[in-house]
Amino acid sequence: MRLHVADHPLISHKLTALRDEDTDSPTFRRLVDELVTLLAYEATRDVRVEPHEIRTPVAPTIGMKLASPKPLVVPILRAGLGMLEGMTRLLPTAEVGFLGMIRDEETLLASTYATRLPDDLSGRQCFALDPMLATGGTMAAAVHFLAERGATDVTAICLLAAPEGVALLEREVIDIGIPLTVVVAAMDERLNELGYIVPGLGDAGDRLYGVVR
Ligand code: URA
Repeated sequence: MRLHVADHPLISHKLTALRDEDTDSPTFRRLVDELVTLLAYEATRDVRVEPHEIRTPVAPTIGMKLASPKPLVVPILRAGLGMLEGMTRLLPTAEVGFLGMIRDEETLLASTYATRLPDDLSGRQCFALDPMLATGGTMAAAVHFLAERGATDVTAICLLAAPEGVALLEREVIDIGIPLTVVVAAMDERLNELGYIVPGLGDAGDRLYGVVR
């Protein structure tokens, strides 16, 4: 597993505003969107392209275009949905699949409650979106899911990660047989006893979309 922690002053600036408990939902959503677009630039460094012939007003030339099959962007519901637009802004021709996963707040184990993905992901580069890599259980389950359907490689894009989550993910994906890259805006200190990232930003889904009771 390859881990890339973004190191950029603009990302730190936006992340600080995102973490602030006084940041309201509309601002939070806008910041998530902007941060994902910045992370997407790094996350797509190895996206596959193929030669493409065009003619400029001056001369014919050979450029590049995204190779087929197109990449698949997979937001992990619910909070990953807040990252979708920021990602597709950079990859507008990517296809989008959905993976609904929920974490049991007591056991902290992830289970799948909804999927809308192609059955066959052979040859597909997949980008899984989830703002918080906390225990790592949800992302590990998502990566297994995509690998079992034949994905060529998976890049997980997260805003914050806890060292415990990164360690679990690394252990859990050791046998998947495809490359996994994790791109995060920052690595935080630890998880607390409730499984929240410290200092973190609280519940990302609630801050994006409000509390569901
Ligand atoms: N999920 C969140 O939304 N926040 C955390 O800190 C951990 C998991």
